[in-house]
Amino acid sequence: MDFLRPRSWAEALAAKAERPEALPVQGGTDVMVEINFAVRRPEALLDLNRVAELAAWSAEEDGRLRVGAGVPYARLIDELGDRLPGLAQAARTVGSPQIRNRGTVGGNLGAASPAGDGHPPLLAADAVVEVESAARGVRMIPATEFYLGVKRSALEPDELIRAFWAHPATGPQYFSKVGTRNAMVIAVCSFALVLRPGERRVGTGVGSAAPTPRRAAAAEEFLAAELDWDGPLDEAVLVRFGELVAGAAAPIDDVRGTAAYRRHALAVLARRTLTWAWNDLRAAGPERRTG
Ligand SMILES: Cc1cc2nc3c(=O)[nH]c(=O)nc-3n(C[C@H](O)[C@H](O)[C@H](O)COP(=O)(O)OP(=O)(O)OC[C@H]3O[C@@H](n4cnc5c(N)ncnc54)[C@H](O)[C@@H]3O)c2cc1C
Repeated sequence: MDFLRPRSWAEALAAKAERPEALPVQGGTDVMVEINFAVRRPEALLDLNRVAELAAWSAEEDGRLRVGAGVPYARLIDELGDRLPGLAQAARTVGSPQIRNRGTVGGNLGAASPAGDGHPPLLAADAVVEVESAARGVRMIPATEFYLGVKRSALEPDELIRAFWAHPATGPQYFSKVGTRNAMVIAVCSFALVLRPGERRVGTGVGSAAPTPRRAAAAEEFLAAELDWDGPLDEAVLVRFGELVAGAAAPIDDVRGTAAYRRHALAVLARRTLTWAWNDLRAAGPERRTG
């Protein structure tokens, strides 16, 4: 097995162009497990750890954050937890401290598992994935268009993930996950919620309950229209929101849970996260609700 070690982003793109079969490795928390268990035997590994550009994040001119694919979860929590609270909350549920020190959102995107915890918050926050190839340059792929099937994404063989882009939170953001135990667990199902009180908009992301992570579009539209943003949280709205989130899922029965349980749990997660978010909004007062 060849081991390619580019020292810059340009070198990494050139290496991927020359050897499209080379498997990128960032934290290695998915790749090394797959190699150890002989799930994969790549002809070459493309180690991205020396590419400094991938380990940086920045606040861009349009107000969005551009977060390098190689920023590990631990740094995301420490450095961006205030601006991307939904994603940081999801990051805190990933694996163990060791996995959070090595694992990255870029790797989560690269693996494109329907159970990846990074995906629901990215979907809910309207994130965009920046990918690049030496031949065709940069492509900006909205998260909604990135996931194509079970562990399949819109990434082409000669492309690498450079970063993801997301607006800093303008309101409450929450992530919640059901597992068969409290830590070191693959999600049975998960849900992310973003409220944008200034625009009266709602974002959602459903994980581990369909072939790909997906938004619950009907639930978003319903909530944005029916929520009394300045009044109390109506029980009927809360219940209907849960039903619509559960209805957006297309789960299967597997070792982690049944389809029926996943639908039930998603409705609970949707009601729970909306209640948390609503309480935050009320606590923040009228200024936060309009701003
Ligand atoms: C014990 C354990 C617990 C775990 N718990 C969780 C959990 O709770 N939640 C969860 O979501 N995941 C979990 N995982 C899975 C894994 O940690 C995550 O998916 C993590 O985000 C992978 O990031 P990484 O940087 O280690 O990726 P890597 O293993 O380096 O790569 C993963 C995939 O992405 C590709 N890739 C990496 N970087 C790029 C790039 N820049 N461009 C293109 N492709 C790229 C790789 O080729 C590979 O296909 C766990 C893994 C282990 C071993």
